[in-house]
Amino acid sequence: MTIYRAQLLDTPQDPFHGGTLRCDQDGALLVAGGAILDRGGYCRVRAEHTDEEVVDLREGLLLPGFVDTHVHYPQVRIIGGLGMPLLEWLDKCALREEAKLADPSVARSVATEFLTGLVGSGTTSALVFGAHFADAVDDFFVQAAASGLRLTSGLVVGDRLLPPELLTTPDRAHRESVELARRWHAAGRVRYAVTPRFALSTSEEMLEACAQVLRDVPGTLFTSHVNENPVEVADVMRLTGAASYTDAYDRHGLLQARSVLAHNVHPGGEELNLLADRGTAVAHCPTSNCALGSGLFPLRAHLDAGVAVALGSDVGGGTGFCLLKEGLQAYVVQRLQPDGLLLSSAQLLYLATAAGARALGLEGEVGDLSVGKRFDAVWLRPRPGDPLSVGLAHAQDADDALAKVFTLGAPTDIAGVWVDGAGGSNASDKPGHRLAPEPAGCQFVRPSRGSGLGAGRGLGAPDVESASSRRTCRRGGNQIRPR
Ligand SMILES: [Zn+2]
Repeated sequence: MTIYRAQLLDTPQDPFHGGTLRCDQDGALLVAGGAILDRGGYCRVRAEHTDEEVVDLREGLLLPGFVDTHVHYPQVRIIGGLGMPLLEWLDKCALREEAKLADPSVARSVATEFLTGLVGSGTTSALVFGAHFADAVDDFFVQAAASGLRLTSGLVVGDRLLPPELLTTPDRAHRESVELARRWHAAGRVRYAVTPRFALSTSEEMLEACAQVLRDVPGTLFTSHVNENPVEVADVMRLTGAASYTDAYDRHGLLQARSVLAHNVHPGGEELNLLADRGTAVAHCPTSNCALGSGLFPLRAHLDAGVAVALGSDVGGGTGFCLLKEGLQAYVVQRLQPDGLLLSSAQLLYLATAAGARALGLEGEVGDLSVGKRFDAVWLRPRPGDPLSVGLAHAQDADDALAKVFTLGAPTDIAGVWVDGAGGSNASDKPGHRLAPEPAGCQFVRPSRGSGLGAGRGLGAPDVESASSRRTCRRGGNQIRPR
């Protein structure tokens, strides 16, 4: 067993419905076999487990691992394609890039780069849009399983309005999807998601083939796009004859509790009620919506209708992997709307963690740092003297500290990531390196930031306190100071 000593912040109760930020200033998590067995003040936990190793993470903050509910692995190389609306960006940027994954060596490199970006940003669980090529998706699953991350993905399918090399047929899509799903769904921490690209590029027969995959491999998830851009919505309505964009999926039985639709920036009439009835979650991708000029997400309308919402980075339409940035952009998007919500830092953390876990059906395992959950966590430790470090040192309380994290935090502040509490290597510091060859799990701890920055705590790897060393309780580190 291991005791992780840290300032713990999480949102076990939904802050949109009365929950608040939970903070243990000098907290401890007792972890064994990847599970959190105990949580509380360090002194109490230490006193009850005097023989266990202590990992000292007091410098900075320990948060639940981030959950990204919408991200495209083939698009890691095209992040930053600015200046175009959705359909032009797909045509000139995204789809051309995705066609390159027909080459297995390209697909393999892209998958490695993607997983490196994901773990380097503190994302421990994700619903990942796969590639249009079965071999590429199979290789992605191989790497995903080896990474130890908690990933759900699938073969992307479409049979119209795509470049010829990305097209498939309903029969082939069904056969390849079932094959991949039977091989990978619930294989360790990876799962399968049935993934039509979007209603614009999928015929009725293709959506029916998708529904058949869901029936053939029970428990698989479903994901696609919906109501992202007004021109796209009009095209879908004209092509499908459905009552709404949402209905285009629902009339094939594709919307369920394990379904996640990305964007929904422009929901019409009864669509929100339909999503709420089906228990389908929406992945809100604010940097993508802003970069592509898609629109401002109507969060209040979703919450009023009872639709579950979580965050997605939507790489590469989005501007990066880090859900801290998405959280800040979600806040800004609400501020720009007359009826926008004034989001608290606790609500931002919830959207980036527990809400995502619920959307992906992982709420029993991850999303917060409660006893009984798996130890999926991200350790934020800004460099001493950086604005975030200064801000944390002067934060008024935990909510204020967390607001500073969302405002100023970046992947460079992430010093460690754990999935299921077990170890691996820091892929961010070793480009191209496998994230965690050990099947035990994924952990990385950044190496020392170097002696040139000065001496003192927080400049190197975390202190590990053995049973034979410090057994007394003492305070230290750059802690939040409530007033
Ligand atoms: Zn997307």
